[in-house]
Amino acid sequence: MHLHQFLIILALLVGIAFSCVHDSIEPDGTIEEPTPSQDQPEGLRLQLRDITKQLDYKCGPKYGSCPSGTCCSSSGFCGTTSAHCRSPDCMIDYGFCDALKTPKGPPTKDILRPHVGRVPYGPQEIRSCTVPGTIAFTFDDGPTRYTGDLLDLLDRYNAPATFFVTGINNGKGPIDDPTLPWAGLIERMIISGHQVASHTWSHEDLSKVNPEQRQDQMLKNEVALRNILGSFPTYMRPPYSSCLPGSGCREDLGDLGYHIILYDIDTDDYKNDSPNLIQLSKDIFDRFLNAGNSKTNSWLVIAHDAHEQTVHNLTEHMLKTSARLGYRPVTVGDCLRDPRDNWYRTDNRGAGHKNKKKSPKKGPKKSNAPQQVSADGTCGANYTCLGSHFGLCCGSTNICGNTTSHCGHGCQKEAGYCAIQIPSNGDAWDPKFPGTKSVKSEADSNGRVVGTAAATSLVLALIVAMWM
Ligand SMILES: [Zn+2]
Repeated sequence: MHLHQFLIILALLVGIAFSCVHDSIEPDGTIEEPTPSQDQPEGLRLQLRDITKQLDYKCGPKYGSCPSGTCCSSSGFCGTTSAHCRSPDCMIDYGFCDALKTPKGPPTKDILRPHVGRVPYGPQEIRSCTVPGTIAFTFDDGPTRYTGDLLDLLDRYNAPATFFVTGINNGKGPIDDPTLPWAGLIERMIISGHQVASHTWSHEDLSKVNPEQRQDQMLKNEVALRNILGSFPTYMRPPYSSCLPGSGCREDLGDLGYHIILYDIDTDDYKNDSPNLIQLSKDIFDRFLNAGNSKTNSWLVIAHDAHEQTVHNLTEHMLKTSARLGYRPVTVGDCLRDPRDNWYRTDNRGAGHKNKKKSPKKGPKKSNAPQQVSADGTCGANYTCLGSHFGLCCGSTNICGNTTSHCGHGCQKEAGYCAIQIPSNGDAWDPKFPGTKSVKSEADSNGRVVGTAAATSLVLALIVAMWM
């Protein structure tokens, strides 16, 4: 074989190879499912289809979308378990996710959103309080199974705080689901004098989603909170503190009538959620407070009620230290001197949590379901932990509590809430945080690379042909 003939064949083979790779990727980034040949007998075809169904489909930027109705997990596998579908880890561009659920009731989109009061709305971000001597403790990502304990603690210290509530993150289910404990906790926040603010529906990075998804993140949480409280907040904090200039995020939040609240003390609590590490968060907090003066300074502190050490350890330390140094704990609205009426927009159209409470009693009673709230901390058989003061979960030893030993392995679903999920999301701004929402563009660029390679080999084949 002559050299030029060899080169032509080589160039053509390279071209064909790349064309094949290119063909297997659909323009929308999905991968074609393998289709058995028509020559195969029916039984074999069905067998093959069952096998492909059982396969752990890979998904994500390199592999495309999951089969309809399944979720793409953060590690890139399709499935239908809570681990696959829980937001914000679930890859929303490659399958179904919790995030795509919609709370019931009339949408809030058309509610008027006037910018009342003196506190700035988006696009401006707020990073600190304005009333000297105040400290605004804020807790993101809840409610969780620890939130009840935190409310008890704040009650004991008579300390108002602000809760940036997420609607459906970490596999906890929708906050307005009357069969879950979250709506009751959110009501309790209001009754106890805390401020309820929004932390989006499913904790997506608002700088990375498109404008429609961004609006969805705010409006769905409004509907869910409205269903519980009869109003929804005007205060919000972007997940991961990410609302970058140029993304349109800050302007969109301003248009929706939101104050964008950041912080000036980041406790890093989500990085230090172990008895050995939480001292690091205490040290951060103490360093800031010791450097200030309660006559002139004020603080806006970020922490998360999704973490056990935050609730059972760090918060009491922060309450004691700040009180010793002369600070007064207040809500974010109060630390900015914003009248309480400005913190929420009223919308009474939803069923309302209070109305909903009556309906389950009308329905048929579940068999074997405990009928009474535990009065002494024991549970199982006829007593549930839900609604008790001893914790949400009924552990294997028939005791209510909120720790992993109560809520994890052996937890009794019929007598309380059970969850083993570990929250993954913190909110401090960290550019290295593995975002999942820019994956679509990566998928597009993969297609381009393959296309370019195929074109290059064709050009090479033409040059060789001309050289002949
Ligand atoms: Zn968060």
